[in-house]
Amino acid sequence: MKVVQITGERECEIVERPEPKAVGEFVVVQIHVAPMCTEYKAYKAGKMHHPLGHEAAGEVVEVAQRGKVQVGQRVVVMPQYPCGTCPLCLSGNYIHCQNNRDMKGTLGSEWGTDTYAQFVVKQDWLLLPIPDGMSYEHASMACCGLGPTFGASELMKVCAFDTVLITGLGPVGLGGVINARYRGARVIGVEGNPYRARLAKELGAEEVLDPNEDALNRVLELTEGKGVDKAIECSGTGEAATFCIKATRRKGQVSIVGGSGDFTVNGVGDFISKGLSVHGAWHWNLAAAPRMMKIIQDSGERIDKMVTHSFPLGKVRDAWELQLTGRCGKVLLRPWER
Ligand SMILES: [Zn+2]
Ligand SMILES: [Zn+2]
Repeated sequence: MKVVQITGERECEIVERPEPKAVGEFVVVQIHVAPMCTEYKAYKAGKMHHPLGHEAAGEVVEVAQRGKVQVGQRVVVMPQYPCGTCPLCLSGNYIHCQNNRDMKGTLGSEWGTDTYAQFVVKQDWLLLPIPDGMSYEHASMACCGLGPTFGASELMKVCAFDTVLITGLGPVGLGGVINARYRGARVIGVEGNPYRARLAKELGAEEVLDPNEDALNRVLELTEGKGVDKAIECSGTGEAATFCIKATRRKGQVSIVGGSGDFTVNGVGDFISKGLSVHGAWHWNLAAAPRMMKIIQDSGERIDKMVTHSFPLGKVRDAWELQLTGRCGKVLLRPWER
C-alpha cells in the first residue's frame, strides 16, 4: 500500500509498505478520505513522524472474527489505540486511556496505524457506522473537524442562551463555529488570518476580532461589559488560553481544546473571584455518537464551506504547502485518487 513519509524539512515521499492484516478485534479499513490535521507542523520541521495522521473514513475490507462491524461497512475511524477495558474506555472517554495498545506487537509490523495511507487497522468498537446517504467526506468530520469542539460543547452544555468565544479559527475552530451555531449560540471569534476570519463569518460567527486590536475590550463591549458565557480555545497558544480566561464572565466556562502552550491564571482575580470552570477537552465521549452524527447530517452545507480543499495522496506536499499558508479551512487527502 502507499504511505506518506516525511523525509526532511518540507520534504516527503510516497512509499510502498506492506498492507496490514486483521487480527482479533482489529479490522482493516480501506481509507477513502483522510482529513489532514496538524501533521504539516512535522512536515515543516522535518520530523519523521510515524504513525502519520489520525483521522479517516473508509470501508471495512477485512475482519478476523465476528464483531461489531462487517466487511463492506462504511465507517469513521476514531483516533488512538486505547485498551478498551479500563474505566475511562468503558465510560466512552477512551481518548484519555492511559493504556494505549502496543500496535507494533499486536500487528507484528510497523505499518497499519498511519492514516496518510491506503489502509489502516482499528479496533472494531472504535469504528462508527456511517448512516446511509452520508458521504465519507462529511462523516470524516466526526474526527478533528467537528469532534473536539463537539466534545467541548457537550461538556459546557452550549445552548441558545450563550455567547461563545472561539479563539483560533483554523480547521478545529471553524468546526467550533458550526457546533456552537448548531446549538443556537451567538459566536464571537478571534483570528488574525483574514481568509479564516471570512470563512468563520460565512459559517455564522457574528464578529471575528483581530487578536492584535484590543480584542479583550471588544469582547467586553459586545457583552455589556460582562464577558462571554463560554469560551473554546482552539489556537493552541498559551496567550489565547489566557485571553479566553480573561474574556469569560463570572461563573462562565472555558474549554481548552488547542494542544500546546503553557498559560498562567491569576488564582484570585481570574479564577476564584470569577468562579470560573476551566476544562481540558480533547475529543468527545463515544456514547454521544448519535448526536455527533445528527449534527453532521444537519450541517452539510456548512461542512461543504468548511472543507475548502481536497488532494490525492500523491499531492500531499501541495496540500501541506497550502496548509502552511493558512489560506484554507479543513483539507482532505484521498488515498486512492490519482
Ligand atoms: Zn483504556
Ligand atoms: Zn486531528
